[in-house]
Amino acid sequence: MFHMMAALAEFERSLISERTRAGMAAAKARGCRVGRPRALVHQQIVAARCALLCHGMAAGALARDLGVSPRTLQRSIAALDGGMCRDCPGAGVDGLGDGRRQTSLSGETGGP
Ligand SMILES: [Zn+2]
Repeated sequence: MFHMMAALAEFERSLISERTRAGMAAAKARGCRVGRPRALVHQQIVAARCALLCHGMAAGALARDLGVSPRTLQRSIAALDGGMCRDCPGAGVDGLGDGRRQTSLSGETGGP
């Protein structure tokens, strides 16, 4: 007896999820966005990538300013098509270059 009730409940559950999927498909066909809204718009992500890569801004501070987690920021930038932005005059030269030079300096210890 209990088995039959469980089987019926499972059947009903599958009907519900089928209806949910059908509703989502219909909404997509109408042109609605399904699911959670994006945390950042495209313009914000492009500006964030510029601040991060061209101007050497810290990812943590940037994420805090935008009100998202560092992981969300990282994921959004990775999903952007294209590499560095070309609008910046000092793209990729200032921030990253100085950082690398400093790390190589620390390994350099003077002789006697
Ligand atoms: Zn830039």
